[in-house]
Amino acid sequence: MASHKDLGVPEGSFLLTRARVPACFLAGGPAGATDAEGSCLVDIVVANGVVDGIVPSGQASATDLPTVDAEGRQVWATLIDMHTHLDKGQVIPRATPDGTLEGGVRLTMADRKRWTHEDIAARMRFALKCAYSHGVSTIRTHLDSPEEWLPRRSLPVFRELRSEWAGKVDLQAVGLAPLSIFKTDWGNTLADLMAESGGVLGGVTDALGVYEGLADEALDGLLDLFLDAATDRGLDVDLHVDQTESLDLFALPRIAAAVMRKKFKGRVVVGHCVSLALAPEDVAERTIRMAVDAGLHFVTLPTPMVYLQDRKPNRTPRWRGVTLAHELLDAGLKVAIGGDNCRDAWFPFGDHDMLDTLQQSVRIFQLDNPIAKALPMAGPMPSDIVGAGHQGRIAVGAPADFILLSARTLNEAMCRPQADRIVVRNGRRVTETLPDYAELDAVM
Ligand SMILES: [Zn+2]
Repeated sequence: MASHKDLGVPEGSFLLTRARVPACFLAGGPAGATDAEGSCLVDIVVANGVVDGIVPSGQASATDLPTVDAEGRQVWATLIDMHTHLDKGQVIPRATPDGTLEGGVRLTMADRKRWTHEDIAARMRFALKCAYSHGVSTIRTHLDSPEEWLPRRSLPVFRELRSEWAGKVDLQAVGLAPLSIFKTDWGNTLADLMAESGGVLGGVTDALGVYEGLADEALDGLLDLFLDAATDRGLDVDLHVDQTESLDLFALPRIAAAVMRKKFKGRVVVGHCVSLALAPEDVAERTIRMAVDAGLHFVTLPTPMVYLQDRKPNRTPRWRGVTLAHELLDAGLKVAIGGDNCRDAWFPFGDHDMLDTLQQSVRIFQLDNPIAKALPMAGPMPSDIVGAGHQGRIAVGAPADFILLSARTLNEAMCRPQADRIVVRNGRRVTETLPDYAELDAVM
């Protein structure tokens, strides 16, 4: 077997033979028999950067195209990170997280004083370079949306980078603000800005809102205002929900009820929802049934949650701090995994590598029997949730975007960092390497 890095990927047009593709990454469903891990051995025809055919291995008709033999190695679709915070990332060491949610709020507010156009752009661009070279093709980022910052600072940078990176890492924005702003003019202005920017309306319903005196009944009223603002502009919504160890303010059932009460037509994403894992069984079951009825989509952010939840000085955490992923999936709900914070005041680690996030999630959630259950959470499911079209799957007629791993099996794929992966976009090998951290020195 030739070294995987020596595989030539000819420019734009070739026949990739003996590619082992997990069935969830095949837009047309399994091509031929699946192996014990749920993958299919296929040949993929790539013509002028587009997938022209996917057939069971050995069944491709004779072609003049150069052949690349994957020798049974894993070939995945590019991955999607549907929950990030590119505006606040890459600020280590100028911010020093203390490992608490409160510290995350406080230190981010302090760091915002340095958020000039150049500063935000440099940090976002660094993040996008990381994501692109790791094989991430779509990112949804929340943008902190205080009235004095978003319109003049973060949003112009976001729009500039969205154009700059289109077709490499496609970007979506979520205007993220406390729900209380929907009692003010700024709520409507933010919704207008998101509508003009092709964005999504975001909000925080978790107990961080308690700092503003948010109580259960007040939450219902704010959710109604929030959903009305989205409905008026045809926006989807994406909420930060229940990031605490307390059930004092359990927002998830209230969100489901509000969506049904308002007959909301857009897509509703609920992120985090870790309190659900602490609810009594009957409450959790009832809440999941409500989520099904309301058609909610979930995104779980396990890496920062494991870091932040149940943290007290010099004490080992007693719970994992993640949501009920198995139960939500088994109820037929879509559950994506996301990277969330990256080298910021909330979470000092990460590299915008969804393959790494997936590997960690498989361990944290015990999603290994079978591993194939976890894979859609990083590709097809977030693609469907955020409306990313062909992305997250390999599809005939779509750009030839995929990740060639040296691993032959999913177990092998989970056991090494896959730093030797080959990312192919539009049928061409991505040659850009990870950015050097020194690129950030100027803004630190
Ligand atoms: Zn977040």
